[in-house]
Order: sequence, then structure tokens, then C-alpha cells
Amino acid sequence: MEENVDVLIAGGGVIGSAIACALTERGITDVCVVDLDLSGKYASSELNAGGARATWWHEVNIASCANTIEFFEEHAEEFSFRQNGYLWLYDDAEKFERAKTHHHAQARHGLEIELLDPTILQQRFPVLDRSLDEIVGATFSSRDGLLNPNEVRRYYRDRAIDRGARFLNRHYVEGVETSESEPGHRHVTTVHIAEVVKGQPADEERTIERILTQHRVPANEALDHPSFRPRVLINALGAWSPILSSKLGVCDFAVPVRRQIAMVDVRKKDLESDVDFSELGMIVDSSDLYFHPEGPYILAGYSTPSEPTGYDFTYDGDRFFENEIWPRLAHRCSSFERCGHVRGWSGLYSVTPDCSGIVGFADGFSNLIEAHSFTGRGVMQSYAVGRGVAELVGAGRFESIDLAPLHSRRFGQDRTKWVMEELHI
Ligand SMILES: Cc1cc2nc3c(=O)[nH]c(=O)nc-3n(C[C@H](O)[C@H](O)[C@H](O)COP(=O)(O)OP(=O)(O)OC[C@H]3O[C@@H](n4cnc5c(N)ncnc54)[C@H](O)[C@@H]3O)c2cc1C
Repeated sequence: MEENVDVLIAGGGVIGSAIACALTERGITDVCVVDLDLSGKYASSELNAGGARATWWHEVNIASCANTIEFFEEHAEEFSFRQNGYLWLYDDAEKFERAKTHHHAQARHGLEIELLDPTILQQRFPVLDRSLDEIVGATFSSRDGLLNPNEVRRYYRDRAIDRGARFLNRHYVEGVETSESEPGHRHVTTVHIAEVVKGQPADEERTIERILTQHRVPANEALDHPSFRPRVLINALGAWSPILSSKLGVCDFAVPVRRQIAMVDVRKKDLESDVDFSELGMIVDSSDLYFHPEGPYILAGYSTPSEPTGYDFTYDGDRFFENEIWPRLAHRCSSFERCGHVRGWSGLYSVTPDCSGIVGFADGFSNLIEAHSFTGRGVMQSYAVGRGVAELVGAGRFESIDLAPLHSRRFGQDRTKWVMEELHI
């Protein structure tokens, strides 16, 4: 069974869903999104920290995140968007000086960043009461904030479906055929889709993991499945993008890296001495630990620098909390001296050499678009990326925000073309 479709999107996480939403808003409604598991078990979109900031150093990241934040502001209630700010602590004077040089660019996009010296910092954030002698300064951006990323993804998906897009759950790209459209240029002609066959939950899970990580399709599952002849194919597979790229012979520069998050209970039995964290936004410590209030708990994350690359969803549990989270929290705030580890989880960052995402028509292809590898920025960049990709599909060029610096060909050029982000956590 072969079917023509205008746009086929591989991956229905926050990025694939944002693209489907923007395409249908533009009147391109013959859109099909294929995902192995739309419940999000393997999607970074369901496993992230819910931070949204435009405090970045490069114009393209500042502009796209600021644009997405404006969109979040319009739907603040729906997304539980609370703009309590991002506080960033620096213990390296030279890095703090470099951070200041980006404030004009950030201000151009409506982000007034305050510079705080350690004395003011202590007055404004009394919860930070330890080891402040090592802090040289801090920045506070009040427009940044926290939100429910699942609601954002749901919004994009629901709007897209309302306007005619289809989401195929438990399906994946099994094979791709291409032809030479002109010398040196290939065209994706046919995309073969397969469905995960129903079975015992444990068998199904093993099958899905095999498809995700090795892309080995059990022989009896690849029969009689639909094929699409898309005008445009979009790779929005997040950390799984290299698997489709390799089928197409596209050089994919991203690698998957595990990131862990712990939920911390800081409530004391003696309520009189409780510290109220509820009005705090995101705090990024100079140790690279980040934390913010999340319901009755504190959500804290830390990216272990020695983390190997690979598809690993293991959560290290108490070991992670006791070795990485608690010492850093207690080093900065006495209120964390006694606290408990509630639970935690891990998800995948898709990390490129400059820690910025990849967007654009794949080199050497006339109808393949890449939109993946947004490291720790996929939610906060999603609206602008969705719109930008819809512009590429509809008009062949970016019309609102110039996302061209995010094209993967930058990695084949000298490093001045890289979009190197240092505020990457
Ligand atoms: C711990 C952690 C904290 C983070 N914190 C933040 C944050 O605070 N703010 C922020 O903006 N970002 C954050 N991020 C990053 C953000 O979550 C990601 O950038 C974003 O979710 C990427 O979305 P995506 O749609 O590109 O990929 P995903 O959400 O991973 O979606 C990819 C989809 O592809 C599907 N898929 C995979 N293989 C196949 C296949 N072969 N066929 C069909 N479908 C397939 C998967 O099922 C999945 O649904 C964090 C990430 C992690 C892991």
C-alpha cells in the first residue's frame, strides 16, 4: 500500500509536534507524524526539567528561545508557565566578564539581565547562605521561567490533529528509498513504515529497544506495512536521529548522552524552620548543578562530565543523589544540610560538537529536513523551530527568525561558524 503525503515527520516529541502544529497553521495539513511510542517513554520531551530561558550567548539561540518564551507567555496558564527567573552563579571572573558581553544581544530581545554582586545576591536570595566568598557575581533574568513541558507538547499535538495532521503511534521508519534528482542531489522517494507488533509487554519492550538502538527489524514484523511517498521528509527523532541519518547516508554530528535528575525533599519536621522555596525560579550553581522548586519537592539536575555517550536510561538512584546532588546543594545552602532523596530519572541529551541544535535541508538532498539535537534546549526553542521548519517547507526559506546558523554544514567549516554555547548544563 503506497500513499502520497505532503510532509512526513519521523518523531513526535516536542519538536516533531511543534513542526506539525506550525505546518497545519500555515495551511499545510497533509502531514503525518510517525512515532514508536507517543506516550513519550523514549522521548526527552517527557523527561526534562521544564526550564525555559533565553539567556544564551548566540543570536540564533537567544532569538529562537525569546520567541518561544513569548509564545509560552500567551499560554501561561495552560502550560503552568511561571516566570520566576533564572539565577546563574559564577565563580570564574573571566567567564563572568564574558557573560556580560552578551547582555546587549539579550536585551535586544527584551531580556533585561540584572548583574548581581555577592552582597546583593545574598540579600535577594537568602537561601544561598554558604560559600558565597567563592562567587564573583551572578546574573538574573526575570523573564525566564519554568513550565510543564508535557502540556506544551500536548498543545502542539492537539492543535495539529485538530487541523488535520495524523499521528501514527507504534510505527517507525523501516526503510527509505531515494533517487538522484539531479547530479549530486538525492530525493527521498519512498519511506517504508512498520508497526510494532502487539505482544507481551516485555517482548514488545525488547523489540522497541532493538528498533531504537540497533534498528534491527524482526523479519516477520516488516511485512505488508504502508509506504509513503512524501514531498518532504523531516528527521525529528531527537537523540535517535543518527539511526535514520545512517539509513540515508547523512552525516549526523550528534551523540546521545544520559542526563539524570533527582527529586529532593527538603521539608523539615519542624515547620517553623522551613525555608520557603516556592517563589524561586531556576538556580544554576557555579558547580553546574541546577535546581528549582517542583511541587512539594526540589528538582535538581547535574550532568556528570565523565558521562559516556550512548543510549542509557538507567537512573543511578541514591549513588547519584549522594555523590553528585546532595554535596553541591549543601555546599551552597544550609537548608539542604538535611534533606531526602525521593526518586529520580534519566533521559537523553542529543549533543552536538557546539551544543546547539541542527535545523535545515540536509546537504545533498532536495526534500530531507533535519530538526534535531537540541541538547538541553528543545522545549524552550520548540515554537521557533516549528515555525522555522514550516517556513522552509512552505516557502523554501526562513521568514521570521533566521535559523540558518543552525545548519549542520557549520561543522564542516572552521570553528568561527560553530554556535558554541557555554551556558550549557
Ligand atoms: C534530563 C533532561 C533535562 C532537560 N531539561 C530541559 C529543559 O529544562 N528545557 C528544555 O528546553 N529542554 C530540556 N531538555 C532537552 C529537551 O527535553 C529536548 O531537547 C527535547 O525534548 C527534544 O525533543 P525532540 O522532539 O527533538 O526529541 P524527543 O522528545 O526525544 O522525541 C523523539 C521521538 O522520536 C521517537 N522515535 C525514536 N526512534 C524512532 C523511530 N525509529 N521511529 C519512530 N519514532 C522514533 C521517540 O519515541 C520520541 O517520541 C532536557 C533533556 C533531558 C534529558
